[in-house]
Amino acid sequence: MTVQTDWDVVVVGAGNAAMCAALSAAEQGVKVLVLEKATKEDRGGNSTFTAGGFRFCHDGVEDLRGDILDDMTPGEYDSIGNLPAFSEEQFMDTLMRITEHQCDPDLAQILVSKSRETMRWMRTHKIRFIPMFGRQSFKIDGKHHFYGGVNIEAVGGGWGLVDMLMNAAERMGITVLYETGLRELIQDEKGAVTGVRAFGPDGYVNFSAKSVVLACGGFESNPEMRVRYLGQGWELCRVRGTQHNTGDGINAALKIGARPHGGWSSCHAVQWDISAPPYGDRVVLDNFQKHSYPIGIVVNLDGKRFIDEGADYRNHTYAKYGKEVMKQPQRTAIQIFDEKTHGMVRDEYRIREVTKASGETIAELAKALDINVDGLEATVREFNAACQPGEYNPSILDGVCTKGLEVPKSNWALPIDQGPFHGYVVTCGITFTFGGLKINTDAQVLDLTDRPIPGLYAAGELVGGIFFQNYPGGTGLLNGSVFGKLAGANAGQAAK
Ligand SMILES: Cc1cc2nc3c(=O)[nH]c(=O)nc-3n(C[C@H](O)[C@H](O)[C@H](O)COP(=O)(O)OP(=O)(O)OC[C@H]3O[C@@H](n4cnc5c(N)ncnc54)[C@H](O)[C@@H]3O)c2cc1C
Repeated sequence: MTVQTDWDVVVVGAGNAAMCAALSAAEQGVKVLVLEKATKEDRGGNSTFTAGGFRFCHDGVEDLRGDILDDMTPGEYDSIGNLPAFSEEQFMDTLMRITEHQCDPDLAQILVSKSRETMRWMRTHKIRFIPMFGRQSFKIDGKHHFYGGVNIEAVGGGWGLVDMLMNAAERMGITVLYETGLRELIQDEKGAVTGVRAFGPDGYVNFSAKSVVLACGGFESNPEMRVRYLGQGWELCRVRGTQHNTGDGINAALKIGARPHGGWSSCHAVQWDISAPPYGDRVVLDNFQKHSYPIGIVVNLDGKRFIDEGADYRNHTYAKYGKEVMKQPQRTAIQIFDEKTHGMVRDEYRIREVTKASGETIAELAKALDINVDGLEATVREFNAACQPGEYNPSILDGVCTKGLEVPKSNWALPIDQGPFHGYVVTCGITFTFGGLKINTDAQVLDLTDRPIPGLYAAGELVGGIFFQNYPGGTGLLNGSVFGKLAGANAGQAAK
C-alpha cells in the first residue's frame, strides 16, 4: 500500500483527545492524518475502556434537555428526581481542592469555562449522551437522584464514544492509519516541528506536516517509566486500560527539548479486582473496578482499616485510593459489606469475573478470605462501637461518621453487623499518569525556556499540570475533548 506522506496536520493517537483534535483541525479545511500505534480492533486507547462519563458545567436537567440530551426519551426524563446544576464555580473549586491547588490555573480556567461549549460542539459531530442512570444516581422513591458532578455519559460508554468519534472523522474526510506508531519528531534547522517519524507494518515512514498534535496518552503502560517516576513497586500494579500508552509522545517531545510539567510522581489509580489481567480487558472493561467502598469498610490482609472510606463522594476519592492499596502487604485489600448495604453495591460487583468470599460471621468471612481472623474481628468490633447515630443517606455527604478511631469514616458509617458478610479482594489498578508536557493556553508545547515549539501541540493524558495526587471523576475525557478541540483548531489554523 502506498502511504501518502505529506499532510497539513498529523495527529498522534486515536483516543478521545486525538479524535477531537483531528475533527477540530479538519473543520479548518486542512488535510488531517491520524496515526495510531494499535490495530484497528484495539483502537481508541483508554477512551474505549471508560464508562464515557463527562464532568462539565450545566444548569440542570432542563438546561441539558435543550441540547446535550436533546434525544432523551420522555420515560428517561420522568425517571429523574434530581439532576443538580454544576456551576463553573463548583467545578473550579472541586478541581482545585482535589488537586491540592496544584492544577495550573490558566489550564484549569480553560477546562472549566470551555467545558459546556465543548460538549455542545461534540454533539454537533453527532456524539450522543445520556444521564448516567446506572452509576451516578441512587434511587429514592423510585426516582433517580444524581450526585457528585459526573452525571452524563456517552451512549454506549467508551466503546460508543470512540465509534461515534470515528464515524465523525470519516464524515470529515480524516485519514486514520493503524499499526503506525510515532517514534520521533522531525524538526527543521530553526527547531520547528515539520513532521514525525513513525514505525508501521512496512518499517519506518517519515510523515511531513505543517503542525503535529501529540495526543498519544501517558506512560501508565510502561513499567520502566512507572518505577522511574512513581516509585518502587509500581511495576507490579495492574493497568486498567490500553497497553499502548507507553509514554512515546512524552519521550519524543522531551528529546527535542520540551518542558516536563505537573505531577510526575503521582497518578490515577483505583481499587481493582485482584484477578484482573495485567492490562485492560476489552470485554469486561472498567467492571474490574470496585467503587462501592464508601458504603462498606476496606481492610488489609491483617484485617486493619487504612483509608477513610467515607472521606468524600466516591468521585473525589476513588482515584487516590489505588495508591493506598499499593502500600499494603502484598498490594492487597478487601472491601467488606454486610447485608444492610450489600444490595446497594454497583453493577461491577455482580460480574462473573469477581474475586469474593462470604461468611455468616466475621470470623467465617476472614477464614474464607484467608486473612487474619482476630485482626478483622477486632477491627469490625471497634468500628461498630465507634459508629455514631444519624440519618443515613448515600446520595449526600450525610455526616454519619465514626468517633475516636485512628482511621475515621467520615460519612455513611453504618455498623457492619448483619450477616451474611461479603468480602471483595482488590489490588491497585493504574488508570493514567499525571506528569507530562507543558502547554500554553493555545495548547502549544513549550520548550525548556517556556517558549512554544513551533508546529507542536498537545492534548489529553500526556499534558502535565492539570491533575496532581488526585482527580475528580469524569474529567479525563473532558480534558481530552477541551484541549483536543483547542489544539486541533490552532494546529489547523497554523497549517493554513
Ligand atoms: C478503565 C477506565 C475507565 C475510565 N473511565 C473514565 C470515565 O468514565 N470518564 C473520564 O473522564 N475518564 C475516564 N477514564 C480516564 C480516560 O480514559 C482518560 O483520561 C482519557 O481517555 C485519555 O484520553 P487520551 O485521548 O488522552 O488517551 P487515550 O484514549 O489513551 O488515547 C491514546 C492513544 O494513543 C495511542 N498511542 C500510544 N502511543 C502511540 C504512538 N507512539 N503512536 C501513535 N499512537 C500511539 C494509543 O494506542 C491510544 O489509542 C478511564 C480510564 C480507564 C482506563
